Amino acid sequence: MPLVILIVFHSNIISGQASHHYNLSTAHHTITPILHNSNFLPYFCKNLFMNSFEDLNLSKQLYNAIADLGFEKPTPIQFEACPVVLSGKDVVGIAQTGTGKTLAYMLPILKDLKFSRQLNPRVLILVPTRELVLQVVEHVKSLTTYMNTRVLGVYGGTNINTQKQAVAGGCDILAATPGRLYDLALTGVLKLKDIKKLVIDEVDVMLELGFRYQLTNIFELLPERRQNIMFSATMTEEVDALIDDTFISPVKISIALSGTPLHNIAQQCYNVPNFYTKVNLLSHLLRDRDEYHKVLVFVSGKKYADRLFEALEERYGPETCVIHSNKSQNYRFRSIQQFDEGANRILVTTDVMARGIDLDKISHVINFDTPAYPENYMHRIGRTGRAEEKGKTILFYTPKEEEAKLAIEILMDYEIPVVEFPEEVEISKQLTPEERPRNIEISGKIRRTQDDERGPAFHEKKLKNTKFNQGGSYLRKMKTYKKPQKRGDKIANLRSKKNK
Ligand code: AMP
Repeated sequence: MPLVILIVFHSNIISGQASHHYNLSTAHHTITPILHNSNFLPYFCKNLFMNSFEDLNLSKQLYNAIADLGFEKPTPIQFEACPVVLSGKDVVGIAQTGTGKTLAYMLPILKDLKFSRQLNPRVLILVPTRELVLQVVEHVKSLTTYMNTRVLGVYGGTNINTQKQAVAGGCDILAATPGRLYDLALTGVLKLKDIKKLVIDEVDVMLELGFRYQLTNIFELLPERRQNIMFSATMTEEVDALIDDTFISPVKISIALSGTPLHNIAQQCYNVPNFYTKVNLLSHLLRDRDEYHKVLVFVSGKKYADRLFEALEERYGPETCVIHSNKSQNYRFRSIQQFDEGANRILVTTDVMARGIDLDKISHVINFDTPAYPENYMHRIGRTGRAEEKGKTILFYTPKEEEAKLAIEILMDYEIPVVEFPEEVEISKQLTPEERPRNIEISGKIRRTQDDERGPAFHEKKLKNTKFNQGGSYLRKMKTYKKPQKRGDKIANLRSKKNK
């Protein structure tokens, strides 16, 4: 019977019906599983029925604090993540700011945190900005009104000596930006050897801002036996690599925005063979300036953003701007302003950078590439069709991206209509370095990889001359004469006779 229930749930998930709506302010959220994560399902099933804080099995002190805050029910990420964090397993949560994710990891951590007078912190929370450090500290303070927990926040851009003194005073929970944390650890005042739980929040922003190196340095100072908890609004290749390097079979929990009013957004897609044909298609579409009057173009990384911007420059240079983390804050700010005010019609952006910017009246969201993580598609298209306006979004997908497109369609329970590729658009033969067949260099010679298509080599032997390995001469004789030539064979023959 339990198996039957599991199968029913699973088929619901696949068909996109297993959703649970929850109101937090004005936003609706839907729990969406990461389909390829087998760890996910048991938690998902269990927690579908969990919709009160009592079910989370917290402490009396925490319940009192929650009551003071006036929160009535856990948000989806809270009832999904709390039990997993409590279990001690590594956790990867995909959720945006505003979903209640801080409490999702703080509640279970605080429940398990015993009173202690020791000076070294036991919980480390890494966030990308000073504002977030302050926010986390605020959250912890409001949750620990009835507990004896010491929390401290440290961040760059302020006097390190004051922070050294504060650290020397001791704390249980330390919230920090990576750079300042590492500097403090180097002074020797801050000791990280007692960290039992590491939380990395907004990890996608952190990596986009170039904190990878600092994170690696910090990991080396932490004890190996610890629980890793990570939250990211979007999944990127860099985030994936970090998870692979740092986490041990993490449980993944995903909360996608279903507040995106799908009925408001007309979706279309084009099957396009490669990057430069996508450029041609985009250039072709953008010719209609009335229709495409405010266009947000998404690409998955800064390398692609630069490449696309360069390719568009010749034709639409003065109308186009680009933002990604390698651009200075001023440049980014200017680009966004020009785009918002209509001075520039086209803004090329990465998933991470587009977050947090509030843009009005976008005519089109172009998904220049197909996000590998379906949640990113939802974030992207949510930038158009806001406030009951009609929005339009177009997805370009190559044959390689077809699987990712399918995952998006499963998530939305909607098949994106395919538009026929316009005849007048040129199919480019030019390939990007990533699209070119990969060559491996072996001792000075270039060899193509196995996935390359190739015909038979000119020196290949004719079939009649091809030799097969037929075993040694003894085996060959056996086959010819079928006559046992040693004792062991006799027995084998008897056995096979018996079996017949
Ligand atoms: P976060 O995503 O952690 O930044 O939280 C977003 C906001 O939601 C914060 O202002 C929290 O105080 C609030 N919040 C967190 N959990 C709940 C809840 N269960 N019910 C209502 N509001 C909440």
